[in-house]
Amino acid sequence: MNTAELAEWMVSLGEPKWRGLQLAEAIYRQRIVDVEGITTLSKPLRQKLDHEGWQVGRPRIVQAFTSADGTERYLVQGQGVDGLTVETVWMPEGDGGEAGDGSENSETTGAESGKGWNRATICVSSQVGCAVNCQFCLTAKLGLQRNLAVGEIAGQVVAVLDRHGVEVGKERVNLVFMGMGEPFLNYDNFMGAVRLLVEEVGLSPQRMTVSTSGIVPGIERFAEEPPEVRPKLAISLNAPNDEIRSEVMPINRKWPIEAVVDAVKGVRLRSRERITFEYVLLGGVTDQPEHAAEVARLVRRTGLPAKVNLIAWNPGPGIAYSTPQPSAVETFRRALSAEGVPVYLRRPRGRDIYAACGQLKRTVEG
Ligand code: SAH
Ligand code: SF4
Repeated sequence: MNTAELAEWMVSLGEPKWRGLQLAEAIYRQRIVDVEGITTLSKPLRQKLDHEGWQVGRPRIVQAFTSADGTERYLVQGQGVDGLTVETVWMPEGDGGEAGDGSENSETTGAESGKGWNRATICVSSQVGCAVNCQFCLTAKLGLQRNLAVGEIAGQVVAVLDRHGVEVGKERVNLVFMGMGEPFLNYDNFMGAVRLLVEEVGLSPQRMTVSTSGIVPGIERFAEEPPEVRPKLAISLNAPNDEIRSEVMPINRKWPIEAVVDAVKGVRLRSRERITFEYVLLGGVTDQPEHAAEVARLVRRTGLPAKVNLIAWNPGPGIAYSTPQPSAVETFRRALSAEGVPVYLRRPRGRDIYAACGQLKRTVEG
């Protein structure tokens, strides 16, 4: 619930409207986790809410795995009665993917406030599993189990902010909606969560990036969002042409590259903002020099202010692709760069703790 909804609820209990603001302050800014602790409310009111069974909804981190590089991966359990979990990741130094998209500025970093991290990134899930059948992705193997609710999406972030004692507004945190699921196939809940995180928690949409496999109707809706709440956009391109893309991402048969790019052109970018094209390098399949030349032409032809984020495929059990040779990754990067395409390499994070998205859940839960 946002401030307005909390206020409406308070009014229905015969309380003044401003109680809604007090509640929002307590839940989202002070991040108080139990009704009893919200001391701005009168004791009788707290008792009444408690008596009626009201709780501050907060997903629970049920398991945490810490990597040698500081990355933490969590299994987070939502509020559903089904007890299903999703993966959420904390990367204390990001993974390089946030570079060059216009989000740099001069906020205090976590390191300056003595917390041992500099520009942390939280990777957030939007669905339990995924219905999009990308051939290289472990989450795809789960199928779609269900959508996450607004509170379950925003709650992952709040739970991780709490765990690391992050002071919103003072310390730099980036969000990437690149965990399990396809955000644009759970559009209303995804955007509802973004609005809560921006308007109530106080995070900036310019420090958030949503990644989509190219769901055209979702991109078209996204283009209509006001800039005050619209995250930045990343498109999982992952292949140099429609033929290869349809093989590795069958969704391309429904919405081919050109249709996706046309929809992206409808997004009114902020100053210095760029569209990110995510490109997973699959050894022998999408990592060849001729592919790099094709990607450069494709990106330039869009005419969009864009950058490419390369990521070497993270291997996972039961998937018959191979990780690219480091030399192929470097050759690919250089080729794009030589063609004048801004290109960044995403560093693998947490290799020792089931780095491939979906791998942790599958390994731990069988
Ligand atoms: N469904 C959305 C967001 C979640 S996937 C999307 O597909 O964009 C986030 C990113 O992880 C995508 O760019 C996807 O291509 C990439 N990805 C999935 N599995 C991967 C793997 N095993 N190794 C590297 N990247 C992977
Ligand atoms: Fe779904 Fe994204 Fe994985 Fe494709 S890459 S199956 S869209 S989570």
